Amino acid sequence: MTELKLQSLKKTYGSVAALAGVGLTVPSGSRTAIVGPSGCGKTTLLRLIAGFDTPDDGTIAFDGETVASFEEQVPAHRRNVGIVAQDGCLFPHLTVADNIGFGMKADRATKLAKASELMEMVGLDRAMLSRKPDELSGGQQQRVALARALACRPRLMLLDEPFSALDTGLRAATRKAVSEVLSAAGITTILVTHDQAEALAFADQLAVMRAGNFSQVGAPRQVYARPVDAETAMFLGEAIVLPAVVGQGRADTPLGSLAVDDASYTGKTQVMLRPEQMTLQQSDTGAAVIGEMVFSGSTCEVLVTLEGEGGPSFRLDIPSLSPLASGDRVAISVSGAAHLFR
Ligand code: ATP
Repeated sequence: MTELKLQSLKKTYGSVAALAGVGLTVPSGSRTAIVGPSGCGKTTLLRLIAGFDTPDDGTIAFDGETVASFEEQVPAHRRNVGIVAQDGCLFPHLTVADNIGFGMKADRATKLAKASELMEMVGLDRAMLSRKPDELSGGQQQRVALARALACRPRLMLLDEPFSALDTGLRAATRKAVSEVLSAAGITTILVTHDQAEALAFADQLAVMRAGNFSQVGAPRQVYARPVDAETAMFLGEAIVLPAVVGQGRADTPLGSLAVDDASYTGKTQVMLRPEQMTLQQSDTGAAVIGEMVFSGSTCEVLVTLEGEGGPSFRLDIPSLSPLASGDRVAISVSGAAHLFR
């Protein structure tokens, strides 16, 4: 098990600051998910950790031992970092067994025995060892890629969008399998993903990245419920941001008076609600109106607009069996406290 520590990491390409002083600690044996918009620096960060590129400034340390800084650079092949990328990157001309054994320093029989053991670990049939990658499904290929990355007993595992090429059902099953294997092996892991639900489900620690730096790092539930700003909030799911005048633990908002999660603040600001805090009820005297409705199976996404000039609109999922219809007037009740942005 290895603790990963990044301090003030900087990397500039021409005039673009891909990393602008990134700091992060990934505790030994834990899992951190990095999410952020396209171009914010996620891949650059993984490349520096793996040793494929060098930082302009700052340090990377594995268990307190510096592996990269401006002065020194431990080469990639000596860092012992496992990587699983989006398309698995298996060698197409090699069998599954040879793919898994590729980086191992052992005789053929030992490699085969180890490959066989790893196949069981990632939940694949040993009979597949003699197949070529194109004879496997996408999910099976990703599991082989994980087995190959595990074969070298890595100190650290970097997962770069490893499930994004898989369809929804397979994606959830493969993620669960990978998650269980990594937990059992106790390997410190970083997952980069565009999928916020995947990040929230997978990680012990969530790091939200924006323009070369982290806007927030914390436990997934904490970052989701108490984001530092509206942009971070919206990156993790639907967020209803309302103007507010706050005092004595309550906020005056277009939705009426709401309890807030920060009683020490007084003044004008914005507060946020998550859609699951809101319930709609048909009411002739309600302050909101239902607009467009989009049916998507078990739920229906509805557009809710608050009355009044420029009244805010937001989208909520309601059960598709709900009797609410487009044009209905509704009252909105809120559970729990609104989150206050300072
Ligand atoms: P995505 O989610 O789209 O993969 P990302 O968050 O991984 O994006 P990076 O690939 O790390 O983003 O890129 C960060 C920034 O650095 C971008 O503006 C990108 O154009 C720039 N960049 C990355 N690599 C290079 C390079 N080799 N030369 C020039 N610019 C680069």
